[in-house]
Amino acid sequence: MAKKTDSQSKAIAGRAAQPVSGSHALDFGKAWTYAPSPEATDHIKLDKRYELFIGGAWKKPRAGKYFSTISPSTEEKLADVAEADAHDVDLAVTAARTAFDKYWSKMPGRERAKYIYRIARAIQEKARELAIVESMNGGKPIKESRDVDVPLAAAHFFYHAGWADKLDYAFQGRRARPLGVAGQIIPWNFPLLMAAWKIAPALACGNTVVLKPAETTPLTALLLAKLIEECELPPGVVNIITGAGPTGAALVNHPDVNKVAFTGSTDVGKRIQRAVAGTNKRLTLELGGKAANIIFADAPLDQAVEGIVSGIYFNQGHVCCAGSRLLVEESVHDVIVRKLTDRIATLRVGDPLDKNTDVGAINSKMQLTKIQELVKAGEDEGSTRVSAACALPAKGFWFPPTFFTDVAQSSRIAREEIFGPVLSILTFRTPDEAIEKANNTMYGLSAGVWTDKGAKIFWMGQRLKAGVIWGNTYNKFDPTSPFGGFKESGFGREGGRQGLAAYVELEG
Ligand code: ADP
Repeated sequence: MAKKTDSQSKAIAGRAAQPVSGSHALDFGKAWTYAPSPEATDHIKLDKRYELFIGGAWKKPRAGKYFSTISPSTEEKLADVAEADAHDVDLAVTAARTAFDKYWSKMPGRERAKYIYRIARAIQEKARELAIVESMNGGKPIKESRDVDVPLAAAHFFYHAGWADKLDYAFQGRRARPLGVAGQIIPWNFPLLMAAWKIAPALACGNTVVLKPAETTPLTALLLAKLIEECELPPGVVNIITGAGPTGAALVNHPDVNKVAFTGSTDVGKRIQRAVAGTNKRLTLELGGKAANIIFADAPLDQAVEGIVSGIYFNQGHVCCAGSRLLVEESVHDVIVRKLTDRIATLRVGDPLDKNTDVGAINSKMQLTKIQELVKAGEDEGSTRVSAACALPAKGFWFPPTFFTDVAQSSRIAREEIFGPVLSILTFRTPDEAIEKANNTMYGLSAGVWTDKGAKIFWMGQRLKAGVIWGNTYNKFDPTSPFGGFKESGFGREGGRQGLAAYVELEG
């Protein structure tokens, strides 16, 4: 770690203690104050209550139980959502099995492709509504949901529609057969995009689906169910059921599920792995991360600072591949810290529906408590905290963009996934030390390398134990590119040809 002089420490700590923008000669915050520019929501027609989408119809949950889903930025209730129990899960799996046997597994790939293309186009047509509801229900800025989540969700359906009639060419002459019924469980950070990541390859490969969105963000998956209904897929090919952990567990444990695909926390992933052990269910897990974003002294530093910001602050750090550990070459530590201090002072935190918002709401009260607890642990362990001194709205769940310097590798904030807009900065002197520190984690989902030298990116790439490595960029996704982890970040890949392999049995 770079040793700072006392006066340097105070300068940084001093900035944290008072409004960051006010402590700097150039007051970016005021220079660029924008008028509010919220997306209109009057055309969004949410139902008061959502049932379960099973067998192509909307079914009431047998037990008659519902739970509320709220907007994390206002704490207002948006809708009631059905809570599926084991009986409802059984109905959904049975519907998926019937659809598999009767229609989907028998349909030629070129016909399946037409349906999948139709879903892709329907997402594009409803893009605005989907983006707004995503931001209302999840708290992420409309910039992100409009420009990233929704277009990528459509792209995943387009991409996989293209594979549906070409599976015989995907695996070097081997014949690919579908697995059957896929039980898919997704988290709250990319509700629509994760649904697309899971459903599109499953359908392309001829499987049928029961998908459960996260309990805090069910709405865009339910809107997707409506689109799928409008696309007239055969009944039961896609079933979308809502509920919390017990609903997910019932899906995982259902004996007629052939494949479980899970994205979420490492804890729950381990539980699921235990639950399917000894069965012949196929499993892919995409779990937590503690990615290292590595900045060499020869990197274009301003660009790197933008990469850091998009890697951890946009999306409130609610990304499993968030660049939550910054490894900076010691000689540029102070300049990076200064640039980052200035940059976070310009980030606009607030209404997710405002087109100028950079950092939205934390997804739930529970998540906010977890972030606060880990930040306190960072302070207690002696790291130096810098937070943007932005005004936070009175209602809703918020956390200001924050980073820590003087972080030891053993600190909790350097080891545990915070899943919030909180960055831990460490330093290194040599590429070998950067590799040692970057790999010193139980996770291995992603990493970033910033340097002027392409050869150094490749050298690092060969040694970093992470599934995705970005070079001079961060958090970029494409359906053609496989995504997945090493170590406790899980196994299996989603996207690309490799992602198809998780949904087929190969013969010959
Ligand atoms: P996160 O920390 O991202 O909220 P979780 O792992 O708690 O991740 O949740 C991810 C998804 O897993 C959610 O849809 C949640 O309802 C579901 N889930 C939680 N517990 C279980 C469980 N025991 N079995 C199956 N799914 C579960």
